[in-house]
Amino acid sequence: MTPTPHAQNHVILSAAKNPCISPYLRDLCATSATFAFFLCLFLAAPQNLHAQKSNGKVPGATTYNLTKELLAAAPKRFYGSPGHAAAEKFITSHFAPEEKDHRLEIDSFTASTPAGLQSLRNIIVKFPSAGPAKKDGIIVLGSHYETNYPLKDTAFVGANDGACTSALLIAFGEYFRAHPPVGYSVYLVFFDGEEAVKEWGPSDSLYGSRHLAAKWSQDGTLSKIKALILADMIGDKNLDIDQDANSDPKMVELLKLAAKNTGHASVISKDTTPIEDDTLPFHKRGVPVLDVIDYDYGPHDQKHSDGYHHTPEDTLDKISAQSLQTAADLFLELINLVNQR
Ligand code: ZN
Repeated sequence: MTPTPHAQNHVILSAAKNPCISPYLRDLCATSATFAFFLCLFLAAPQNLHAQKSNGKVPGATTYNLTKELLAAAPKRFYGSPGHAAAEKFITSHFAPEEKDHRLEIDSFTASTPAGLQSLRNIIVKFPSAGPAKKDGIIVLGSHYETNYPLKDTAFVGANDGACTSALLIAFGEYFRAHPPVGYSVYLVFFDGEEAVKEWGPSDSLYGSRHLAAKWSQDGTLSKIKALILADMIGDKNLDIDQDANSDPKMVELLKLAAKNTGHASVISKDTTPIEDDTLPFHKRGVPVLDVIDYDYGPHDQKHSDGYHHTPEDTLDKISAQSLQTAADLFLELINLVNQR
């Protein structure tokens, strides 16, 4: 992904007002400090319960360990490399029950890139809705899994950029296998070809998502998507999630609400930044998209003009199970909130 060139727009948003206590209740509180104390405890209680509702369902430690395993099996995952095939094998091996049930789909296609024709594959895993609250529609969770082609001759492994978010999707698969979606169906999409091969631009980037958005537009899947939520670079130990100006504004509001409901409001940046990512081809076709991304990764100094992003320093030690836990909490609550809309 990349921030939209020349369009970095940092907006400081005003602090949200807390409307939870009405003037009437405030007057009551004023009459007795003791009463106010217990009233405040009472008002605070549902929020704490809510925060615990999703916490730990998709454990950060599970995602972290899966990231470690993926990096061991497929450290370099650029097109045409043995690691690219190994990464696909790693992902699909975690979905054997779904493959048996014909709910795992390999979307193979050939992309014309500056490095010639490349065989790319998006991996799609479907978890249909079950139960009485079943709703007609799909929530898509996405991540790209390949590594940057221009960095193929370096030690780049993309622990944060591709690996940990693919691991997050695998962990979500394990969760949905045990707890099938109760509202909308959930599709997991492991995108191939997110990175530019030579230089980022409309024809050299987002190969997998451009292909899938066009395919789903033709077969009618696109019109059923209620939300496409993308995970990118959110394993960063110092988690600071952008408000993406290229995402659906209502979905960004939902992200902030999800963060508040799960007790993670502090990880949402106050800055608004337009990001170009696998959400973009779907956004252009009218799908409500949200890019959950922390672009600001590592130090910015003489040695690191863009932090650890696209450097061999994007390694396992720069990410944390805690950030991956926070990411999972946010994604689960986002799914809850989309189902409630
Ligand atoms: Zn990247």
